[in-house]
Amino acid sequence: MNRSVRILNTIEEMFPNAKTELYYNNVFELAIAVILSAQTTDVAVNKLTPVLFEEYPDAKALAKANHKDVEAILKSIGLYRNKAKNIIEFSNQIVNDFNNQVPNTKKELITLAGVGVKTANVILSEYFKLPAIAVDTHVERVTKRLKIVRESYSVLQTEKRLERALPRERWSQAHHSFILFGRYHCTARSPKCDVCPLTADCKYYTQNVKNK
Ligand code: SF4
Repeated sequence: MNRSVRILNTIEEMFPNAKTELYYNNVFELAIAVILSAQTTDVAVNKLTPVLFEEYPDAKALAKANHKDVEAILKSIGLYRNKAKNIIEFSNQIVNDFNNQVPNTKKELITLAGVGVKTANVILSEYFKLPAIAVDTHVERVTKRLKIVRESYSVLQTEKRLERALPRERWSQAHHSFILFGRYHCTARSPKCDVCPLTADCKYYTQNVKNK
């Protein structure tokens, strides 16, 4: 068993059946929630999406929305003006360019407003169950601390490295497992190293905790 798989196995034992913590009922709602979650917690997004979807239940409705009205709903989260603009434009593109369907390829998804590679990967793996590893801040921090990925790697290089290191059929689940491990155990500021089963694999532990 390769080292990366062994580490993933341990993390998946700690966080079995990890899945997204964003609430959604369909792929349109998932896509909007993921766009809104950039640099914002899932908890903050979950508080406002029920209000947003009550008012604008589908792409057709949101495409016609007034910017100021949408901004008023989003104002509790970061970058809300830009996000309001993006989700309205996203909805217009879905209606006009994609026959009212959220597409299921990365190539098409990244043409949509507010959708980068990470967001596309989340939609592909979470909703369409296609193999993809979305690299967010948790995935990047955790895999670098655990020396699966080099410190100097960009997000794209991290994604490619993880794709090489892990079996394809485990990519989507790995994304969720790394996120929960990073969100609740290996946090940015206060990782739980004292109760971590991965200290022997961890660069952060060697440099910052061991012998201190
Ligand atoms: S030892 Fe600490 S920094 Fe390393 S993986 Fe575990 S919790 Fe994270």
